[in-house]
Amino acid sequence: MPGSSPTVFDPSWDPFAADAIHRLADRYGSPLLIVDAERLRERYRRLADALPGTRLHFALKPLPHRAVVEVLRDAGASFDLATNGEIELVRRAGVAPERCIHTHPIKRDSDIRTALAAGIDTFVVDNPDELRKFAKHRRQAGVLIRVAFRNLGAICDLSRKFGCDPAEVEPLIGLAESLDVRVRGLSFHVGSQAPDPAMHVEAIEACAGLIARAAARGSALEILDIGGGFPADYREPMPPIESFCAPIRAALAALPRGVQPIAEPGRTIVAPAAIGVSTVMGRAKRGERWWYYLDDGLYGSYSGRLYDHASYPIEALSNGGERLPSVLAGPTCDSIDVIEEDIALPLLAIGDRIVGRSMGAYTWASASEFNFFAKATVLVVDRGRILDERHERHEP
Ligand SMILES: *Cc1c(COP(=O)(O)O)cnc(C)c1O
Repeated sequence: MPGSSPTVFDPSWDPFAADAIHRLADRYGSPLLIVDAERLRERYRRLADALPGTRLHFALKPLPHRAVVEVLRDAGASFDLATNGEIELVRRAGVAPERCIHTHPIKRDSDIRTALAAGIDTFVVDNPDELRKFAKHRRQAGVLIRVAFRNLGAICDLSRKFGCDPAEVEPLIGLAESLDVRVRGLSFHVGSQAPDPAMHVEAIEACAGLIARAAARGSALEILDIGGGFPADYREPMPPIESFCAPIRAALAALPRGVQPIAEPGRTIVAPAAIGVSTVMGRAKRGERWWYYLDDGLYGSYSGRLYDHASYPIEALSNGGERLPSVLAGPTCDSIDVIEEDIALPLLAIGDRIVGRSMGAYTWASASEFNFFAKATVLVVDRGRILDERHERHEP
């Protein structure tokens, strides 16, 4: 509904409280992804305070939504982009290109040109062929070399698909020099939802050594990009972000002088700032268990159950009564579309609402419209105001 005045609810509202969820679902329908702007700001602020001096580039991938970008832009964030669609999204959100870096390790020349035309000039490479793509853009573009540190225990290991061996950094810098391409620094990503900060610390120490060696050969690297991986709470609580970051902060303090640390947090900022709301479409008692069929499922916001290995805390909004062993299934006709095989829930009726917590990251972002079940409507709520009344199903 472009142009309509924003709906204003009570500004003191917690949009994650039961009465607020009911009002929002009554008005906007189901399924919903409710994002709380205040929680977004708080998550951003806590990470920024835990890593003072580190520039935070919010990675759009876990929740590529314009109102989310605008809230974080106003909170002071920079941005980490990987695709032309993400570039277009931040451009429409009015983010200055100097606040953006492009971190996809593999790009077509047309992708590089699109980013450069948008004013983004820092890219990531991890191999000689990719580096050679920058020879003709050497006047405008600089690169970070992405290094992989293997055998580290993150749930989503990102160092298999991308990143060069630490031993390849020196030859890559040599190749860059022969091509006259500027190497601005190093980057790594230890993998998403890191269980503890040890991997970040190890990688920072290894990169500090690589940077010192490059300096001794006359190549001054000025950036260390420590990637994402900062965890969020799901059913298993993680250490608070302050304690997770304390050893990382200490490792960064030991970097050679003149090296600016930056990070690319995604999950830790958006995951706790959103909840998924769905509705029981039908139910059946099959054997000992009640099966509830929701209007959102594995092909929708709960896609992260599969792709992201995430176990969201799920509860019924009407929480009274005896808990019975239950199954939560998605709406599609596919038998794989089951969210929870064994969950204790009160007896639910058709129309009752289900809430999934910590659902901001890698949920709606990876949802499909399989079987033509629409993706959840994203509502970004800021102190009682809906920030974007346009339901951004097809046009993020
Ligand atoms: C996905 C991704 C991120 C965000 O990672 P989180 O673990 O969600 O913080 C950051 N950088 C790159 C290059 C990514 O691909």
